[in-house]
Amino acid sequence: MPELRKDPIIGRWVIISTERAKRPSDFKVSHTEVIEEACPFCQGHEKDTLPEVFAFRSKRSKKDGPGWDVRVVPSISQRLDVSGSLDRRGVGMYDVMDPVGAHEIIVESPEHFTNIHELPRKQIELVIRSSANRITELGKNQKLKYCLLFKNHGLRAGGSRTTKHVRSQIIATPVTPTRVKEELRGARFYYKFKDRCIFCDIVRQELESGERVVMDTKTMLVIAPFASRFPFELWILPKAHSSDFVNIEKDEVRDLADVFKTVFAKLFKALNDPPYNYMLHTAPFRHAKRPGYWHTIKDDYHWHIEVTPRITEVAGFEWGSGFYINPTAPEDAAKYLRETKI
Ligand SMILES: [Zn+2]
Ligand SMILES: [Zn+2]
Ligand SMILES: [Zn+2]
Repeated sequence: MPELRKDPIIGRWVIISTERAKRPSDFKVSHTEVIEEACPFCQGHEKDTLPEVFAFRSKRSKKDGPGWDVRVVPSISQRLDVSGSLDRRGVGMYDVMDPVGAHEIIVESPEHFTNIHELPRKQIELVIRSSANRITELGKNQKLKYCLLFKNHGLRAGGSRTTKHVRSQIIATPVTPTRVKEELRGARFYYKFKDRCIFCDIVRQELESGERVVMDTKTMLVIAPFASRFPFELWILPKAHSSDFVNIEKDEVRDLADVFKTVFAKLFKALNDPPYNYMLHTAPFRHAKRPGYWHTIKDDYHWHIEVTPRITEVAGFEWGSGFYINPTAPEDAAKYLRETKI
C-alpha cells in the first residue's frame, strides 16, 4: 500500500509508493554523451576564466597562474552583479528588483576529474574551506541576504554540455530563497512550541531507529529523509547544533569530506553515475539592520546539505501540486546504500 508522509519541517506531503520498491537496478540511468571541449577549468588554462576571487595556492605561485589547489572564479554566465542598487520598485502590483548578487564557480581540482569522490579527502577539505570562505566574504556585503552553495552533476541536473570538470557553484542573492524561507518558518514554529531544534530532534530520532541512516560519523549524519521527495534523496546534517555552515569546526570539515567521498562513491556505484544536485541550506545573512527579526534563528535553524539524484521525471501532478510521488521508500534506499560496497 502506498503511504502518505508529511515532512515535519515544512509540512510538504509525499506519496511513498511502496507497492514494489524500486531498486537501484530498476533505474536505468542513460547518459547523453557530453562532448568535452578544451576545458577552461584545468590548470594551465587560467586565462580562459574571469580573474579569480579566491584560491588556495602555493606561496610562490601567482594569481591567475598555475600552482593552485582550489580556485574560485566569477561565472561567465553571470546574471547578477554585486555593484547594482537594491531599489525595490513596484510595477503596478508587482515587485521588481535589479539583479544584485554574485555567481561564482568553485573549481574543486586543478586536474580534470569529473566526480567529487575521486578527489583525495584532503582536497575535499580544501573545497569545503573555500566554500565557507566565500560565503563569509559575500556575507559582509549588506545588500546580500543569502548565499546558495550547490552542485549540478550531469546534464539532467543542469550540468554543462562542454566540460564535466568537477566544480560547485555559489549564487548570492538580495532575497532569501523560498525553499529556505519555508524551512526557516517551519523550524521557528517548532521551536516556539517545543523549545527544541527540529533538526536536532530528527538527528536524535534517526540515530535511534537507524533504518534511514546511510552513514554515521563522529560529527556528521547522512539519512534518507522520512518524507523523501525523490528516490535516494539524502540529507547530510552535522550532529551538533549549528545554524550557520560557515562556523563549521575542524573535525566536521574532515568528516564532511569523508561523507562526500563515501556517499557520492556509493551513489555512483549503485545508480551508475546518476545526475544529481546538492544544495546547502544554511541560515541567511543577518545584518544588524533588522534587530529582533531573526531572534531565535541561532537556536531554531540547523544547516544541512540536501542531495537529490535526478533519476525520475517530475511530472505534471508534482509541478502543479507540490506533492511528490516517490517509488522508492527511504528505508529501502538507505539499506541499498549501506550495503553498497565501494
Ligand atoms: Zn578540466
Ligand atoms: Zn539543531
Ligand atoms: Zn533544507
